[in-house]
Amino acid sequence: MGRGRSSGAQLALSAMAADRPHLPGRRARGPITHPMDSLDAFARTKLDALEAGSLRRRLTPTERGAEAAAVRRGRALVSFSCNDYLGLSHHPRVIAAARDAVAAYGAGAGGSRLVTGDHPVLGALENLLARHKGTEGALVFGSGYLANLGITPALAGRGDLVVLDELSHSCMWAGARLSGAKILTFRHNEPGDLAMTLAEHRPHHARALVLTERVFSMDGDRAPLGDILGVADQFDAWTLVDDAHGIGVVEDGPRAPLEMGTLSKALGSYGGYLCASRPVIDLMTSRARSFVYTTGLPPASAAAALEALAILEAEPARRARPLALARRFTARLGLPEAESAVVPVLVGDAQTALDIYGALEAEGFLVVAIRPPTVPAGSARLRVAFSAAHAEAQVDALADAVAALTGRGSRP
Ligand SMILES: *Cc1c(COP(=O)(O)O)cnc(C)c1O
Repeated sequence: MGRGRSSGAQLALSAMAADRPHLPGRRARGPITHPMDSLDAFARTKLDALEAGSLRRRLTPTERGAEAAAVRRGRALVSFSCNDYLGLSHHPRVIAAARDAVAAYGAGAGGSRLVTGDHPVLGALENLLARHKGTEGALVFGSGYLANLGITPALAGRGDLVVLDELSHSCMWAGARLSGAKILTFRHNEPGDLAMTLAEHRPHHARALVLTERVFSMDGDRAPLGDILGVADQFDAWTLVDDAHGIGVVEDGPRAPLEMGTLSKALGSYGGYLCASRPVIDLMTSRARSFVYTTGLPPASAAAALEALAILEAEPARRARPLALARRFTARLGLPEAESAVVPVLVGDAQTALDIYGALEAEGFLVVAIRPPTVPAGSARLRVAFSAAHAEAQVDALADAVAALTGRGSRP
């Protein structure tokens, strides 16, 4: 850059400074508030309100290890709060796959998939995902959240309709809002309510999407997918199922034409995916903005997920374990039988949930309290997540501790 240009830039900067009385060295004529003051005041007011409702969130550094171990504040805990349902994030073969990929291919993808970030290991993972789900194709995204941000807007827009189960995950809502389509909800897991909604609104919209989850993330219950797909077919609506908590744990039942999910739960790695027909996958490759305009998944994350998927397919006993342990827990506590690896223990208000979480931690269990707005107001809960890595004795000990703290009967 030439001298003249850089001194021109300096002139422009000092002209800007003259227009801004709050910059250092300038005296303001009246009482001028620095924008930082109002910004911080805004944040503090919001935080105070969250604090008052026991809704303020704080980070807790956690070191996870094999066999559901977690260390927090120097204390060794057994974690019942990880989504690592098959214990694969610490499987020696998964770790080796990631380490080998980093050594061979580097730490990052170096660009978006459509430019230079499409390492062949991502294609290999997509082939295996498509085979696993029985679809023509699959597309790997940067995360499950990013997948849902991109999928719905690529299929629906103004003049279209998106109908979601009212308990759908935050990122399904975000994708729906981003699409610009009209958004409606149906009552949780009620195909009859979906049918009524579609009967009334479907005729006034060009295209319609139905969004739900195979396993609901905070309640652990399963959608009646056969019935939902039947209703959607009747009204010529396309169904997108979020399978984040299904793959590797509960995989029976019908498949939707659009099945998205994450590599970060049972697959123990990081990233997201969509499994669908070849034309849909090709459309997403060109049009899903959260695919096109973001850096490709690091090859090591894909290599880890690929190895995890191979282990998952080869070891049915591992896949059966999380649900079996969850059912052992619900039976012992007299709760409704678990439908997935996730079991909610509802306690009502946020502070009670926090108190029980603290008491369990003192006994060596990590069971995080889930509060609004993640779950509806008044339904704060302990969300207990079971893993193939847990031992039966650990599950029984947790059930007894929860029974003592909540006043529920434990039935050994
Ligand atoms: C975790 C989760 C996601 C997001 O997946 P990430 O890969 O963690 O971004 C999406 N949907 C549901 C239902 C989830 O539980």
